Amino acid sequence: AKSGGGDRLAAYDPAMLAGLVERLELEADLRVALTRDELALHYQPTVDLRTGEITGFEALVRWYHPTRGMVSPLDFIGTAEATGLIVPLGRWVLTEACRQAVAWGAGTTRRLKMAVNVSVRQFEHGDLAAMVAEVLAETGMPVDQLCLEMTESVLLTDTDENLAQLHRLKDLGVTLAMDDFGTGYSSLAYLRRFPMDTLKIDRSFVDRLGGEHEDEALVSTIVRLGRSLGMTTVAEGIEDSVQLAVLKELRCDYAQGYYLSRPLPAAEAGRVLEEGLAT
Ligand code: C2E
Ligand code: CA
Ligand code: CA
Ligand code: CA
Repeated sequence: AKSGGGDRLAAYDPAMLAGLVERLELEADLRVALTRDELALHYQPTVDLRTGEITGFEALVRWYHPTRGMVSPLDFIGTAEATGLIVPLGRWVLTEACRQAVAWGAGTTRRLKMAVNVSVRQFEHGDLAAMVAEVLAETGMPVDQLCLEMTESVLLTDTDENLAQLHRLKDLGVTLAMDDFGTGYSSLAYLRRFPMDTLKIDRSFVDRLGGEHEDEALVSTIVRLGRSLGMTTVAEGIEDSVQLAVLKELRCDYAQGYYLSRPLPAAEAGRVLEEGLAT
Protein backbone atom coordinates (compact mmCIF):
# COMPACT_ATOMS: atom_id res chain seq x y z
CA ALA A 1 0.00 0.00 0.00
CA LYS A 2 1.24 3.44 -0.86
CA SER A 3 0.52 6.56 1.12
CA GLY A 4 1.15 9.22 -1.46
CA GLY A 5 4.94 9.51 -1.12
CA GLY A 6 5.96 6.81 -3.60
CA ASP A 7 7.17 3.24 -3.16
CA ARG A 8 10.02 3.86 -0.76
CA LEU A 9 7.68 5.21 1.85
CA ALA A 10 5.50 2.13 1.70
CA ALA A 11 7.23 0.60 4.73
CA TYR A 12 6.07 3.54 6.83
CA ASP A 13 2.48 3.28 5.77
CA PRO A 14 0.60 3.48 9.07
CA ALA A 15 -2.09 1.11 7.80
CA MET A 16 0.51 -1.49 6.89
CA LEU A 17 2.29 -1.13 10.20
CA ALA A 18 -1.00 -1.49 12.02
CA GLY A 19 -1.62 -4.67 10.02
CA LEU A 20 1.73 -6.10 11.10
CA VAL A 21 1.18 -5.21 14.75
CA GLU A 22 -2.26 -6.77 14.52
CA ARG A 23 -0.82 -10.03 13.19
CA LEU A 24 1.91 -10.17 15.83
CA GLU A 25 -0.62 -9.55 18.57
CA LEU A 26 -2.92 -12.22 17.21
CA GLU A 27 -0.03 -14.68 17.14
CA ALA A 28 0.97 -13.91 20.74
CA ASP A 29 -2.65 -14.18 21.87
CA LEU A 30 -3.14 -17.47 20.05
CA ARG A 31 -0.16 -19.00 21.85
CA VAL A 32 -1.81 -18.07 25.13
CA ALA A 33 -5.26 -19.22 24.00
CA LEU A 34 -3.93 -22.75 23.64
CA THR A 35 -2.77 -22.85 27.26
CA ARG A 36 -5.91 -21.21 28.64
CA ASP A 37 -9.43 -22.34 28.05
CA GLU A 38 -10.25 -19.99 25.16
CA LEU A 39 -10.84 -22.47 22.35
CA ALA A 40 -14.03 -24.44 21.83
CA LEU A 41 -15.57 -26.56 19.11
CA HIS A 42 -18.91 -26.05 17.47
CA TYR A 43 -20.55 -28.95 15.68
CA GLN A 44 -22.48 -28.75 12.42
CA PRO A 45 -24.73 -31.74 11.67
CA THR A 46 -24.35 -33.81 8.51
CA VAL A 47 -27.70 -35.09 7.27
CA ASP A 48 -28.45 -38.19 5.19
CA LEU A 49 -30.43 -36.87 2.22
CA ARG A 50 -32.48 -40.06 1.88
CA THR A 51 -33.59 -40.36 5.50
CA GLY A 52 -33.19 -36.82 6.85
CA GLU A 53 -31.32 -38.24 9.81
CA ILE A 54 -28.21 -36.77 11.40
CA THR A 55 -25.36 -39.15 10.65
CA GLY A 56 -22.57 -37.08 12.15
CA PHE A 57 -21.02 -33.68 12.73
CA GLU A 58 -18.21 -31.52 11.46
CA ALA A 59 -16.12 -30.00 14.26
CA LEU A 60 -15.34 -26.30 13.71
CA VAL A 61 -13.00 -24.44 16.03
CA ARG A 62 -14.02 -21.24 17.81
CA TRP A 63 -11.86 -18.82 19.75
CA TYR A 64 -13.36 -16.79 22.57
CA HIS A 65 -10.81 -14.01 22.92
CA PRO A 66 -10.93 -12.20 26.29
CA THR A 67 -11.20 -8.74 24.66
CA ARG A 68 -11.96 -9.31 20.97
CA GLY A 69 -14.86 -11.67 21.62
CA MET A 70 -15.41 -14.56 19.26
CA VAL A 71 -12.74 -14.70 16.55
CA SER A 72 -13.60 -16.56 13.34
CA PRO A 73 -11.32 -19.41 12.25
CA LEU A 74 -11.02 -17.54 8.94
CA ASP A 75 -9.12 -14.90 10.94
CA PHE A 76 -6.75 -17.15 12.88
CA ILE A 77 -6.24 -20.49 11.08
CA GLY A 78 -3.95 -18.69 8.61
CA THR A 79 -1.85 -17.27 11.46
CA ALA A 80 -1.80 -20.67 13.15
CA GLU A 81 -0.55 -22.23 9.91
CA ALA A 82 2.11 -19.58 9.30
CA THR A 83 3.51 -19.91 12.83
CA GLY A 84 3.31 -23.68 13.22
CA LEU A 85 0.77 -23.25 16.05
CA ILE A 86 -1.61 -25.27 13.87
CA VAL A 87 0.21 -28.41 15.06
CA PRO A 88 -0.72 -28.18 18.77
CA LEU A 89 -4.03 -26.53 17.84
CA GLY A 90 -4.85 -29.35 15.41
CA ARG A 91 -4.08 -31.94 18.05
CA TRP A 92 -6.30 -30.15 20.55
CA VAL A 93 -9.18 -30.00 18.03
CA LEU A 94 -8.86 -33.69 17.17
CA THR A 95 -8.74 -34.73 20.84
CA GLU A 96 -11.74 -32.61 21.78
CA ALA A 97 -13.80 -33.80 18.79
CA CYS A 98 -13.02 -37.46 19.52
CA ARG A 99 -13.88 -37.04 23.23
CA GLN A 100 -17.21 -35.52 22.25
CA ALA A 101 -18.00 -38.28 19.73
CA VAL A 102 -17.23 -40.93 22.35
CA ALA A 103 -19.43 -39.12 24.88
CA TRP A 104 -22.36 -38.94 22.41
CA GLY A 105 -21.97 -42.63 21.61
CA ALA A 106 -21.78 -43.79 25.22
CA GLY A 107 -24.61 -46.13 26.18
CA THR A 108 -26.07 -46.10 22.66
CA THR A 109 -25.58 -48.12 19.49
CA ARG A 110 -25.15 -44.92 17.50
CA ARG A 111 -22.16 -44.77 15.15
CA LEU A 112 -21.80 -41.04 14.60
CA LYS A 113 -19.22 -39.83 12.13
CA MET A 114 -17.05 -36.99 13.38
CA ALA A 115 -15.36 -34.92 10.70
CA VAL A 116 -12.29 -32.88 11.66
CA ASN A 117 -10.50 -30.38 9.41
CA VAL A 118 -6.77 -30.83 8.99
CA SER A 119 -4.38 -28.36 7.43
CA VAL A 120 -1.69 -29.18 4.89
CA ARG A 121 0.80 -27.83 7.47
CA GLN A 122 -0.04 -30.73 9.78
CA PHE A 123 1.14 -33.08 7.02
CA GLU A 124 4.43 -31.22 6.78
CA HIS A 125 4.99 -31.44 10.52
CA GLY A 126 5.95 -35.06 11.01
CA ASP A 127 3.77 -38.11 11.15
CA LEU A 128 0.09 -37.18 11.09
CA ALA A 129 -1.02 -40.83 11.18
CA ALA A 130 1.02 -41.45 14.35
CA MET A 131 -0.54 -38.40 16.01
CA VAL A 132 -4.04 -39.54 14.98
CA ALA A 133 -3.39 -43.06 16.28
CA GLU A 134 -2.28 -41.64 19.64
CA VAL A 135 -5.37 -39.47 19.97
CA LEU A 136 -7.67 -42.36 19.03
CA ALA A 137 -6.04 -44.50 21.73
CA GLU A 138 -6.16 -41.72 24.34
CA THR A 139 -9.84 -40.99 23.75
CA GLY A 140 -11.15 -44.48 22.97
CA MET A 141 -12.58 -43.21 19.68
CA PRO A 142 -13.44 -46.01 17.21
CA VAL A 143 -11.36 -45.29 14.12
CA ASP A 144 -14.22 -45.91 11.67
CA GLN A 145 -16.09 -42.98 13.18
CA LEU A 146 -13.38 -40.47 12.32
CA CYS A 147 -13.26 -38.54 9.06
CA LEU A 148 -10.45 -36.12 8.25
CA GLU A 149 -11.28 -33.27 5.87
CA MET A 150 -8.55 -31.62 3.84
CA THR A 151 -8.35 -29.32 0.85
CA GLU A 152 -6.55 -30.29 -2.29
CA SER A 153 -3.49 -28.30 -1.21
CA VAL A 154 -2.55 -31.58 0.50
CA LEU A 155 -2.55 -33.26 -2.90
CA LEU A 156 -0.66 -30.48 -4.63
CA THR A 157 2.30 -29.88 -2.32
CA ASP A 158 5.00 -32.38 -1.43
CA THR A 159 2.95 -34.94 -3.24
CA ASP A 160 4.84 -38.17 -2.59
CA GLU A 161 5.29 -37.65 1.13
CA ASN A 162 1.67 -36.53 1.59
CA LEU A 163 0.44 -39.46 -0.46
CA ALA A 164 2.39 -41.82 1.80
CA GLN A 165 0.84 -40.16 4.86
CA LEU A 166 -2.66 -40.46 3.38
CA HIS A 167 -2.08 -44.18 2.88
CA ARG A 168 -0.93 -44.53 6.49
CA LEU A 169 -4.15 -42.83 7.59
CA LYS A 170 -6.19 -45.13 5.35
CA ASP A 171 -4.36 -48.13 6.80
CA LEU A 172 -5.42 -46.99 10.25
CA GLY A 173 -9.03 -47.03 9.02
CA VAL A 174 -9.71 -43.29 8.95
CA THR A 175 -12.14 -41.89 6.34
CA LEU A 176 -10.70 -39.14 4.14
CA ALA A 177 -12.73 -36.29 2.65
CA MET A 178 -11.77 -33.77 0.01
CA ASP A 179 -13.05 -30.39 1.23
CA ASP A 180 -14.13 -27.45 -0.96
CA PHE A 181 -14.14 -29.68 -4.02
CA GLY A 182 -14.24 -27.83 -7.31
CA THR A 183 -12.59 -24.62 -6.13
CA GLY A 184 -8.99 -25.46 -6.95
CA TYR A 185 -7.20 -27.44 -9.57
CA SER A 186 -9.04 -30.67 -8.78
CA SER A 187 -8.52 -33.09 -11.59
CA LEU A 188 -9.69 -36.59 -12.19
CA ALA A 189 -6.08 -37.73 -12.16
CA TYR A 190 -5.59 -36.46 -8.60
CA LEU A 191 -8.81 -37.98 -7.37
CA ARG A 192 -7.84 -41.35 -8.81
CA ARG A 193 -4.37 -41.20 -7.39
CA PHE A 194 -5.29 -40.24 -3.84
CA PRO A 195 -7.24 -42.53 -1.51
CA MET A 196 -10.14 -40.18 -0.78
CA ASP A 197 -13.52 -41.62 0.33
CA THR A 198 -15.67 -38.51 0.22
CA LEU A 199 -16.12 -35.41 -1.95
CA LYS A 200 -17.43 -32.28 -0.29
CA ILE A 201 -19.02 -30.10 -2.94
CA ASP A 202 -18.05 -26.52 -2.28
CA ARG A 203 -20.68 -24.06 -1.13
CA SER A 204 -20.08 -21.82 -4.15
CA PHE A 205 -21.66 -24.49 -6.41
CA VAL A 206 -24.55 -25.16 -4.05
CA ASP A 207 -25.19 -21.39 -3.95
CA ARG A 208 -26.11 -21.41 -7.61
CA LEU A 209 -28.60 -24.26 -7.41
CA GLY A 210 -32.22 -23.52 -8.13
CA GLY A 211 -31.20 -20.85 -10.60
CA GLU A 212 -29.91 -21.46 -14.08
CA HIS A 213 -29.99 -24.95 -15.45
CA GLU A 214 -26.30 -24.86 -16.30
CA ASP A 215 -25.34 -24.52 -12.63
CA GLU A 216 -27.44 -27.51 -11.72
CA ALA A 217 -25.60 -29.48 -14.39
CA LEU A 218 -22.30 -28.70 -12.72
CA VAL A 219 -23.33 -30.10 -9.33
CA SER A 220 -24.91 -33.05 -11.09
CA THR A 221 -21.60 -33.74 -12.83
CA ILE A 222 -19.67 -33.61 -9.55
CA VAL A 223 -22.12 -36.00 -7.86
CA ARG A 224 -21.86 -38.46 -10.75
CA LEU A 225 -18.09 -38.10 -10.83
CA GLY A 226 -17.93 -38.93 -7.13
CA ARG A 227 -20.20 -41.92 -7.53
CA SER A 228 -18.29 -43.26 -10.52
CA LEU A 229 -15.12 -43.17 -8.41
CA GLY A 230 -16.87 -44.95 -5.56
CA MET A 231 -16.87 -41.84 -3.39
CA THR A 232 -19.56 -40.51 -1.10
CA THR A 233 -20.77 -36.98 -1.87
CA VAL A 234 -21.55 -34.27 0.68
CA ALA A 235 -22.96 -30.89 -0.32
CA GLU A 236 -22.04 -27.98 1.95
CA GLY A 237 -23.67 -24.63 2.51
CA ILE A 238 -27.32 -25.48 1.89
CA GLU A 239 -29.28 -22.35 2.69
CA ASP A 240 -32.80 -23.01 1.39
CA SER A 241 -35.39 -25.67 0.63
CA VAL A 242 -34.90 -25.41 -3.14
CA GLN A 243 -31.21 -26.30 -2.88
CA LEU A 244 -32.09 -29.17 -0.57
CA ALA A 245 -34.70 -30.53 -3.00
CA VAL A 246 -32.37 -30.28 -6.00
CA LEU A 247 -29.57 -32.09 -4.17
CA LYS A 248 -31.95 -34.90 -3.20
CA GLU A 249 -33.06 -35.17 -6.80
CA LEU A 250 -29.44 -35.31 -7.97
CA ARG A 251 -28.91 -38.14 -5.45
CA CYS A 252 -26.19 -36.45 -3.52
CA ASP A 253 -25.63 -38.55 -0.36
CA TYR A 254 -25.28 -36.06 2.49
CA ALA A 255 -25.83 -32.38 3.17
CA GLN A 256 -24.80 -29.63 5.54
CA GLY A 257 -25.81 -26.01 5.74
CA TYR A 258 -27.51 -23.26 7.70
CA TYR A 259 -30.90 -24.36 6.33
CA LEU A 260 -30.45 -27.68 8.13
CA SER A 261 -28.49 -26.39 11.09
CA ARG A 262 -25.78 -23.89 11.92
CA PRO A 263 -22.69 -25.13 13.73
CA LEU A 264 -23.80 -25.52 17.37
CA PRO A 265 -22.11 -25.54 20.77
CA ALA A 266 -21.74 -29.09 22.11
CA ALA A 267 -24.76 -28.98 24.43
CA GLU A 268 -27.10 -27.79 21.67
CA ALA A 269 -25.66 -30.26 19.18
CA GLY A 270 -26.35 -33.03 21.71
CA ARG A 271 -29.93 -31.84 21.91
CA VAL A 272 -30.58 -31.90 18.12
CA LEU A 273 -29.02 -35.34 18.11
CA GLU A 274 -31.69 -36.52 20.55
CA GLU A 275 -34.60 -34.59 19.08
CA GLY A 276 -33.74 -34.47 15.37
CA LEU A 277 -33.85 -31.42 13.12
CA ALA A 278 -36.99 -29.44 12.45
CA THR A 279 -36.70 -29.53 8.63
P1 C2E B 1 -14.84 -25.35 5.96
O1 C2E B 1 -14.09 -26.54 6.43
O2 C2E B 1 -15.20 -25.30 4.52
O3 C2E B 1 -16.13 -25.27 6.90
C1 C2E B 1 -17.38 -24.81 6.48
C2 C2E B 1 -17.60 -23.35 6.85
O4 C2E B 1 -18.80 -22.91 6.26
C3 C2E B 1 -17.74 -23.12 8.34
O5 C2E B 1 -17.24 -21.82 8.63
C4 C2E B 1 -19.26 -23.15 8.51
O6 C2E B 1 -19.70 -22.47 9.66
C5 C2E B 1 -19.69 -22.45 7.26
N1 C2E B 1 -21.04 -22.84 6.83
C6 C2E B 1 -21.71 -23.98 7.07
N2 C2E B 1 -22.93 -23.96 6.50
C7 C2E B 1 -23.03 -22.78 5.86
C8 C2E B 1 -24.08 -22.16 5.07
O7 C2E B 1 -25.16 -22.70 4.84
N3 C2E B 1 -23.81 -20.92 4.55
C9 C2E B 1 -22.63 -20.27 4.81
N4 C2E B 1 -22.46 -19.06 4.29
N5 C2E B 1 -21.62 -20.84 5.55
C10 C2E B 1 -21.83 -22.07 6.06
P2 C2E B 1 -16.27 -21.55 9.85
O8 C2E B 1 -16.67 -22.37 11.02
O9 C2E B 1 -16.15 -20.07 10.01
O10 C2E B 1 -14.88 -22.13 9.34
C11 C2E B 1 -14.22 -21.55 8.24
C12 C2E B 1 -13.07 -22.39 7.79
O11 C2E B 1 -12.04 -22.41 8.80
C13 C2E B 1 -13.41 -23.86 7.55
O12 C2E B 1 -14.01 -24.00 6.28
C14 C2E B 1 -12.05 -24.49 7.64
O13 C2E B 1 -11.35 -24.33 6.45
C15 C2E B 1 -11.38 -23.64 8.73
N6 C2E B 1 -11.50 -24.34 10.03
C16 C2E B 1 -12.48 -24.33 10.95
N7 C2E B 1 -12.18 -25.13 12.01
C17 C2E B 1 -10.96 -25.66 11.73
C18 C2E B 1 -10.10 -26.57 12.44
O14 C2E B 1 -10.40 -27.09 13.53
N8 C2E B 1 -8.90 -26.88 11.83
C19 C2E B 1 -8.54 -26.35 10.62
N9 C2E B 1 -7.35 -26.71 10.09
N10 C2E B 1 -9.34 -25.51 9.93
C20 C2E B 1 -10.53 -25.17 10.48
CA1 CA C 1 -14.48 -28.72 6.25
CA1 CA D 1 -15.71 -26.83 2.98
CA1 CA E 1 -13.28 -23.73 3.26
